[in-house]
Order: sequence, then C-alpha cells, then structure tokens
Amino acid sequence: MIWEESTFYQNAVKQLEYAGQVMNLDPNVLTRLKMPKRALIVSVPVRMDDGNIKVFEGYRVHHSMSMGPAKGGIRYHPSVSLSETAALAMLMTFKCSLMNLPLGGGKGGIAVDPSKLSRGEKQRLTRRYTTEILPFIGPEKDIPAPDVGTDSQTMAWILDTYSQELGYCVPGVVTGKPIEVGGSLGREEATGRGVVYTIIEASKALNIKLDENTKVAVQGFGNVGRAAAKKMQKIGTTVVAVSDYTGGIYNPKGLDLDHVSAYIAKNKTLGGYPEAEAISNEQLLELPCDILIPAALEGQITDKNAAKVKAKIIAEGANGPTESAADKILFEKNVFVIPDILANAGGVVVSYFEWVQGIQKLFWTEKEVNNKLFEIMSNTFAKVYAVSLEKKVNMRTAALICGIDRLSKAMLSRGFFP
Ligand code: GLU
Repeated sequence: MIWEESTFYQNAVKQLEYAGQVMNLDPNVLTRLKMPKRALIVSVPVRMDDGNIKVFEGYRVHHSMSMGPAKGGIRYHPSVSLSETAALAMLMTFKCSLMNLPLGGGKGGIAVDPSKLSRGEKQRLTRRYTTEILPFIGPEKDIPAPDVGTDSQTMAWILDTYSQELGYCVPGVVTGKPIEVGGSLGREEATGRGVVYTIIEASKALNIKLDENTKVAVQGFGNVGRAAAKKMQKIGTTVVAVSDYTGGIYNPKGLDLDHVSAYIAKNKTLGGYPEAEAISNEQLLELPCDILIPAALEGQITDKNAAKVKAKIIAEGANGPTESAADKILFEKNVFVIPDILANAGGVVVSYFEWVQGIQKLFWTEKEVNNKLFEIMSNTFAKVYAVSLEKKVNMRTAALICGIDRLSKAMLSRGFFP
C-alpha cells in the first residue's frame, strides 16, 4: 500500500491495531480505518521572484468523513509526503472523534521549505495550491487549518482564493483565520493552552505539584511550543529549555521567554542566544526535567532515546512525536505520556468553536472560548484516564479506544455503502 511508505504511517496503524485488539473492535471497521477515504496529489507551479517557475508537490487527504466534514491542518515542510499526510489525517479522525466533535479527519501539505520563500512566493504558492484542491474543500466538505509552517495569513489567502472562485465570501472554508475575517479569539494560543490544561489534569491525577521547582523542557518554539512554554511559565513552573529547528537552549535556573521571543524576532532563529547553554534537539529530550513537551515534528522519541528520558510527564504538543517502540519503554518506566490526540486537541476544538461561531454569525469573548476549551479538555482527560486505569493500558491506547468507540458506532449505524 502506497500509504504505508513512512514509519510514521506504520506506527499509526500499529497503535490503531493495538487499541482495536484491546477494545474488541469490529474487524470490518478496523480494516476500513487502516486506510484513508481518498487522497489528492497536485502539482503546484509557482512563479518565483527571479522569474522562473518551480513546481511543488502538494496533497490533501481525507481519512474519514463519517462524523462530518474532514478537518485538519495544512503543513508546509520539506519532508511532507503522501504517506505522512495520510498518517496525520488518520490522527485527525481519532482526535476529532475523541473530543466529541461533529467532524472527520483530513490533512494537507506541500513539500516546501517556507523559510526560503518570500511573502509573495508564499502567497502565490498558497493560492495555486488552493485552486488545485478546490473541489476537495468547503465548509460542508473539508475545512483546513494551520499546521507546521502555515499560519493565519495562509488561511486568509485560502479563504480569499476560494471566495473569489465562488463569487462571495466563504469564511467557513478554513479555521485559524485572522480575527478580522471571522477568526475566533483564543484560536492562536489554543493548542498550547490545551497542552497545559492536560498537564494540569495529569499532575492532579498523579499527585505531582506544579510550582517553581517543576522544570519544563519544550521541543519546538513554533505556534504550539511557544504558547505552551509561556502558559507553563504563567502557572508558575520553570521553563528550563526550548528549541527550534537549529537547536536548543538550556538554563537550569529558567529562561526569560520574553527575551527569547525578542531574540527570535530579531535573529529569526534561536542560534547564538547568549543567556543559555546551546544544546541539540536530541539533548533537550534527555534533560533532567519533570515535564517534557515535544512540540515539533513526529518520530522524536524512539527506542534509542526513550530509556534516557527523565521527565515524569510527556505532553505531546506535536502529532506523533513518540514511536510505538518508545511508548512501551516509557510505559515500563512509568513515564506518563499524554498522547497527541488528547494533549494537542485544543487547536481543533477551538477550530470547531470558530466554525460554529461563523455559522451562527455570533462571536464569543476570549474568556468564553477559554472556559469552554478547559471544560472539554478536562472532561476528556478524565474520561481517557478512567479508561486507562480500567483497561490497564497507557493513555494513548485509552484515548484511541474512546475516539474509535464513538466512530465505530457511527460507522456501523450508518452501514457500509452500497
Ligand atoms: N493542525 C492542527 C492539528 O493537528 C489543527 C487542526 C485544525 O484546527 O483543524 O490538530
């Protein structure tokens, strides 16, 4: 199968199979869920600033639409592939189902390094990609959002291109858009905020105190890592390390995150930051700390480094940062892993709020958004934790069981067509 080319996809299937076994999943449902519903591969020709045309490869995958429109981000990164996009789409299905949203799972992406493009090149790339995937997306069909390498500006260009084509403004075609074109207050920080909400719930469940002696390491300082790090600092813990794709910085006494942000704003990356020790991304994962937040890319914690992780809690801000083999080692070591489909679900939950507000044309205050988010995150955490205790499985399997249970009931009551 073409989907199975990446270890990331194979990993997602392994996790699904294991959860299916524990919950006694209908074998027909399992067979269907191992594969996406459909996928589109597009060529995206872009006139570069030097006048030449470059052609990029793009994808949009729908994994499941049993519960509603496909939902999931669009990623701009050099390692984007069909198999990676399909794995991410599958995770979105389980994430949306776990969070009780009336949405399915999808994902898109372009194999490109956005840091090497000018603003004009990025805009042309986004508009052409949107035109190519246009028949695939829409407020009732498939609703993209930001992911690694894309942001609210990218969503505004998608909204505009789609609306130009239809002849009227269609804000519901994307979420994570700027506030002035129908975005939701609190969406930007929602993923990072949700990560912290699950850490708060985990520390209550495990009886771990969160205070200034709690050391936190965050891999990745993009939208998710940065918001999570700032919120962890706000609740009184000490963030000792952060990183970006150039490497990390470590100060056991704690980092001044405003200073770090100001340094990145000026220098673009963390490289050369003066007030901390330079470390690699690999070293960051093994630092002496209480809480580790991998908020970069997939496949970071493997069977090679899992035994060296010192954190008591891992909260997965990224999608798929822990490989299956590592999961086993961490479980045996009693490391509490809050899995991606739960830990980072705050983003898609507030995307759903944005979609709902857009349909109602009635917008909520930031406080309302955050309170509703907290309620959903903490209730879902409690549900997953209870299943993990009852079935004696880790939180990933428990979260998958909760998500797949709702989905399989929906699939079986709708029936297989024809
Ligand atoms: N890209 C984010 C995720 O992986 C957000 C998806 C969305 O809001 O639709 O969950």
